[in-house]
Amino acid sequence: MSNIEFDKRHIWHPYTSSVNPLPCYEVAGAQGVNIQLTSGETLIDGMSSWWAAIHGYNHPRLNQAAHEQVDKFSHVMFGGLTHEPAVNVCRQLLDMAPAGMERVFLADSGSVSVEVALKMALQYWACQGRPDKHKIVTPRNGYHGDTFAAMSVCDPVNGMHSLFSGVLTKQLFAPAPQTRFGQTFSEDDILPLEELFASHHHEMAALIIEPVVQGAGGMRIYHPEYLRRCRQLCDNYDVLLICDEIATGFGRTGKLFGVDHAQISPDIMCVGKALTGGYMTLAATMCTEDVALGVCQGEPGVFMHGPTYMGNPLACAVASASLALVSENHWQQQTRDIETQLKAELLRCAQLEQVKEVRILGAIGVVETHQPVDVARLQRSFVKNGVWIRPFNKLVYIMPPYIIQPDELSQLTSAIYHALK
Ligand SMILES: *Cc1c(COP(=O)(O)O)cnc(C)c1O
Repeated sequence: MSNIEFDKRHIWHPYTSSVNPLPCYEVAGAQGVNIQLTSGETLIDGMSSWWAAIHGYNHPRLNQAAHEQVDKFSHVMFGGLTHEPAVNVCRQLLDMAPAGMERVFLADSGSVSVEVALKMALQYWACQGRPDKHKIVTPRNGYHGDTFAAMSVCDPVNGMHSLFSGVLTKQLFAPAPQTRFGQTFSEDDILPLEELFASHHHEMAALIIEPVVQGAGGMRIYHPEYLRRCRQLCDNYDVLLICDEIATGFGRTGKLFGVDHAQISPDIMCVGKALTGGYMTLAATMCTEDVALGVCQGEPGVFMHGPTYMGNPLACAVASASLALVSENHWQQQTRDIETQLKAELLRCAQLEQVKEVRILGAIGVVETHQPVDVARLQRSFVKNGVWIRPFNKLVYIMPPYIIQPDELSQLTSAIYHALK
């Protein structure tokens, strides 16, 4: 049985059917912005392996960090032990993070970092003698991960809440922000959230939101003023603000973090995806000193979470090398250039009959169609045209590695145009 055949029969892939699987391609190698298939084709990567591979594949400095660490030690438990890779990556994270972030919890995936953030918020209020503050408020169209608490704050429709209605915690949902990035902010946009805060703040532990770009829940790009108002509402009503920067972090939106568009600081912040430059899984939940102290007052006096592979030294060493690259700030010019080129080349898709809207911010380009696209058909067309783009539902979108060259980016944008035409 060939690898593809075995895979088709026995292996789950993200969001696919075991009965009717989508086409799947076998990778032989990846280098820079290229993914090589065993069938011989080379594809220009438009996805950065889901926001992660910002520096491109097989990067010499990330490879070196992994090699050096694997020869020292690959893992030790984090209970009672620490090591230089973890200290380094946490030091770098706090240097980069918005003002006020003082403490880092190293998690093993984005979803876990969201679980940790929600747990911190609930434990914080329980320890303040306010166990009644136990609900999370969030705008619709959000995406925060696939585990149960994270799922409870995903968009209730996209997140299939009806399927799990018996077990999912019922949270408080506000309408998704409507004012687009770059438009004039409409006061109406924040009214429903203000009303929700006024009527429910006594039971609200935290507001969780993806800063400026709502990712997998709809690829929506909204006005930073909305985020600024979220901060104010949280301050006025004693509610913690959790910013989920797992997709937006490390330069993707043209700023280092999405919150930088609004010049605010959250109380708790999640990062992941690009943290290791796409090499291995690692995420982090950062919080203020106030949250860290608040969580550990009273019973049980400790924060109740600790994954087996917490602070994995290999992942931390690579993350540290990736953050060092980010700190060289080439992403600023790179994402500016990508944004300029996306505006020049992708906006023409808006003229196509089946296209509803084109949205661009930083190194993110989104084409939304009126009807759900035929993923299998589009995927085949993209591979035939030498590009790797993975649409879902009504969204054909790209967030390429920052190192992509203009001619390579043109291949991505023209593949999208021709596939939709
Ligand atoms: C991808 C993502 C997550 C979940 O991260 P995983 O590593 O897939 O568990 C959470 N929040 C946002 C905003 C994401 O984009």
